Amino acid sequence: MVHISKNEIETLIAAAAKAREHAYAPYSGHTVGAAVLDGDGAVHQGCNIEFVTLQQTVHAERAAIVNMASAGARQIRAVAVVGPYSGVPCAECRQAIWEFCCADPDVAIVSAPVGGAVEILRLGDIYPRPYGPETKNIDPRRF
Ligand SMILES: [Zn+2]
Repeated sequence: MVHISKNEIETLIAAAAKAREHAYAPYSGHTVGAAVLDGDGAVHQGCNIEFVTLQQTVHAERAAIVNMASAGARQIRAVAVVGPYSGVPCAECRQAIWEFCCADPDVAIVSAPVGGAVEILRLGDIYPRPYGPETKNIDPRRF
């Protein structure tokens, strides 16, 4: 059962939509924004950033996570994604979210596709057999 309020959902979607305005996607035109709610209630934003080689592309979710970690936070409570086709994180981003979810499968994933219906997903449902830092007795909050 995810634990996120209606107000937090709205705040995260607005932050992700704002971040999406800064997406750098000249090659695909696929612009995505993400917002992470950390363990202290702060919101961290990210947008996708493409590079000409394409392999170096940074997804919005991971940009938001890097911004969160760079600000010193180490726990994700929720992630919102605003994108053109889907607001569901890709497999690599699910792994990155798991790194900082502190082994909590109830982290909320707010999927907000542009022009589509908002869905509140449970991380454990979209990433059911994670390989995370807990398997090595690592708690990200200690680092
Ligand atoms: Zn991704």
